[in-house]
Amino acid sequence: MIAKLERTLNPPEHPDGGLAVVTDPAALMDRLGAAFTEDPAITPSREQFPLRVTRSFLDRISPGLPHDPLLLQILPQAAEFDPRAPGLLDPLDEAGRRTSPRLIRKYHGRALLLASAECSIHCRYCFRKHFPIRDAIREDPDCEQALADLCADTSIREVILSGGDPLTLSDRRLATLAARLASLTHIATLRIHTREPVVRPARIQKDLIEALLEFPRRRVLVIHANHPNELVPAVGRGLDRFREAGFHLLNQSVLLAHVNDEVEVLAELSETLFSDGVLPYYLHLLDPVQGSAHFAVPDERARTLHTELRARLPGYLVPRLVREIPGAHSKTPLVSGSE
Ligand SMILES: *Cc1c(COP(=O)(O)O)cnc(C)c1O
Ligand code: SF4
Repeated sequence: MIAKLERTLNPPEHPDGGLAVVTDPAALMDRLGAAFTEDPAITPSREQFPLRVTRSFLDRISPGLPHDPLLLQILPQAAEFDPRAPGLLDPLDEAGRRTSPRLIRKYHGRALLLASAECSIHCRYCFRKHFPIRDAIREDPDCEQALADLCADTSIREVILSGGDPLTLSDRRLATLAARLASLTHIATLRIHTREPVVRPARIQKDLIEALLEFPRRRVLVIHANHPNELVPAVGRGLDRFREAGFHLLNQSVLLAHVNDEVEVLAELSETLFSDGVLPYYLHLLDPVQGSAHFAVPDERARTLHTELRARLPGYLVPRLVREIPGAHSKTPLVSGSE
């Protein structure tokens, strides 16, 4: 099983020297204190999908708390190699739904572009952690094939930049991409799926926003936060910049065991997002990707949590509880039994 995992998002060192990222487990242990000791069982997961976390995110983890909800999202664990829970390499059949190496086409009117293979943080539950994004980018390095597909299909009204994380690209590359998408006049909306505003708020500077403004029509930013502790004030300041530039701000989360599977946590997440000008969009059930079964929350528990959330919050603060079923025409809502 381990041998099959040769393709991962494992990036080389980032060319931008200002990126403060921790990849050395010893540095992580050092930061978190003596409560952590190296477990040889985690070595395979470290090699296949290495530890990677920004200093900024690390600063939000409580030293000495082995079950810190942010730590659990980034710490390689032996459970990732549990042979009783093998999982899938491409759980959403994304490779087979491409019109060209970098363009995934599943839903009406929308296409998803694999804009970057890099992430500043490796989320242990990531459903694309084994996806060969690097190969896809090598096959279509300047997005020529993807842009030709977008040009030829005027039914596509919205392009979603995803990855990896699109905001790990340089401002210059983003400006070029945004301008080329803008030249396709049938594309009404540019949407960006990114964790950068949350995990590396220093990335959100005026020049980045200006690069994205090369796309002059509707702009949507979908961030990814799972726990209210992720939303420190620096995150809010970066989000302000996007909002002031006319972006619509949404959040998606993944429902993760021991991280956010309590109604209090989800309610606080929604409230904090709203204080930052962000509306909750999706709460995703975990995809059955290899090495993440230990994060799974049973459907029944998910439905209960969602029902409790609806009983507490205004409707606009309740994210849609969904799962992705390969072949479906949209994300599939998990309907609560009490409705
Ligand atoms: C999730 C996803 C979208 C966007 O779906 P929405 O329901 O509009 O958020 C588009 N394309 C692909 C391939 C996706 O996985
Ligand atoms: S930031 Fe997104 S794409 Fe990158 S590892 Fe995390 S979940 Fe996956």
